[in-house]
Amino acid sequence: MGYIKEYLCSVCKFEQTYFLGIGFSNQKEVKMFECNNCKAIKKSVMPNPNCSKCNKKSLSEILDFNKKLKCPKCAEIKFQFEIEGMWD
Ligand SMILES: [Zn+2]
Ligand SMILES: [Zn+2]
Repeated sequence: MGYIKEYLCSVCKFEQTYFLGIGFSNQKEVKMFECNNCKAIKKSVMPNPNCSKCNKKSLSEILDFNKKLKCPKCAEIKFQFEIEGMWD
């Protein structure tokens, strides 16, 4: 069973839903990462992926979902976790 994290930017109202965990058709666990360099958000099944924006291997897994992230649209640090759901 996987889980869904829905994020919403309080500035520009940009919304993004992240499907994480292990789903019905997935063999590997999908995790969410934040780049320590450029703060980009990335979803990956790799344990130590490269950032898709700056290409650096400086991503850390997001474990604290109460932490505000950088909005992919307006780049403000106002992208926050709103709703959690389940999927499979
Ligand atoms: Zn980066
Ligand atoms: Zn925004």
